[in-house]
Amino acid sequence: MSTVVDLRSDTVTKPTAGMRKAMAEAEVGDDVYGEDPTVRRLEERVAAQLGKEAALFVPSGSMANMIAVRVHTEASDEVILEAMGHSYAYEAGGMAGISGVQARPLPTPDGLLSPEQVEAAINPKNAHFARTRLVIVENTSNRGGGTIYTPEHIERMKQLTERHELALHMDGARLWNAHVALSRPLDDFTQHVASVSVCLSKGLGCPVGSLLAGTRAFIERAHRFRKMLGGGMRQVGILAAAGLYALDHHLARLEEDHARLARLTGGLAQIPGLSVQPERHPTNIGFVELAPGSPDAKSFVERLRALGVLANATGTRSLRVLTHLDVDDASIERALDGFRRALA
Ligand SMILES: *Cc1c(COP(=O)(O)O)cnc(C)c1O
Repeated sequence: MSTVVDLRSDTVTKPTAGMRKAMAEAEVGDDVYGEDPTVRRLEERVAAQLGKEAALFVPSGSMANMIAVRVHTEASDEVILEAMGHSYAYEAGGMAGISGVQARPLPTPDGLLSPEQVEAAINPKNAHFARTRLVIVENTSNRGGGTIYTPEHIERMKQLTERHELALHMDGARLWNAHVALSRPLDDFTQHVASVSVCLSKGLGCPVGSLLAGTRAFIERAHRFRKMLGGGMRQVGILAAAGLYALDHHLARLEEDHARLARLTGGLAQIPGLSVQPERHPTNIGFVELAPGSPDAKSFVERLRALGVLANATGTRSLRVLTHLDVDDASIERALDGFRRALA
């Protein structure tokens, strides 16, 4: 472990020795010909875990979400999603560029849409309006601070979308964290959605890779759009092997990331000049507000960096911190010390 504590993102992890060995030893074939046995195993395993008929390995979560939007919609349809949601805010306008749809972003305090809020935003079926077609829920919510849609919340969303004949997609980049935090089976969260994307490159610690899961018919169409976007890959079992390894070795341990985030936010909440609400951060993502009178977030982040602690400024007064595979107990102590000194 280096002495720098990197709390910027759970994507900064380096593959472990065990993961690299699994990658080096992977049995591979040309996946564009459907001949990579390791990719097949990963797709089948993840589809089964998510309770879906089929899954497709793709290079990134952004591509998984963009393909899902493309399959579920036609050009000029409207997609309802949270205003800071990844598919809206962080995919380079992909839903507009790739699918020609428009977004209806709805603001929330915690990243979680309520069925009532979604229902109020559905357009009337009338020639004046874009056809509301799809709702996206992000579980866990990144900008909400790692917040969780419970299976019951998703079920209520499903009842609403069914009533209005809308598709429901879950951006489950960190669904693994929700599963571990609530000790509920993965398919409790996904049984009510038509499609779900999951990332291997976040808390699970893989260098690359996401999967998109749904019905067999959905995945057949998704496969075509993956090719169109340039996401067909060849001996990609090398990456799928990392995913299989991560599911065996890095899934249950997400609990440690959650415990460390709680220690971090609990400790930060004790520091004068910082405002943190640990109870609003049930998984591995936390937000820290700087009190009026303290430095702005950008210069505070520079001070932290000089002390060997990396965090991202997310607003003029707010920072985001995450825990992951490469943050251990000692890192939390060093981080707390860094925050104290940066404020002193
Ligand atoms: C990281 C992330 C994604 C996918 O990001 P890629 O970098 O494209 O893999 C999707 N949704 C959420 C909520 C994310 O945090």
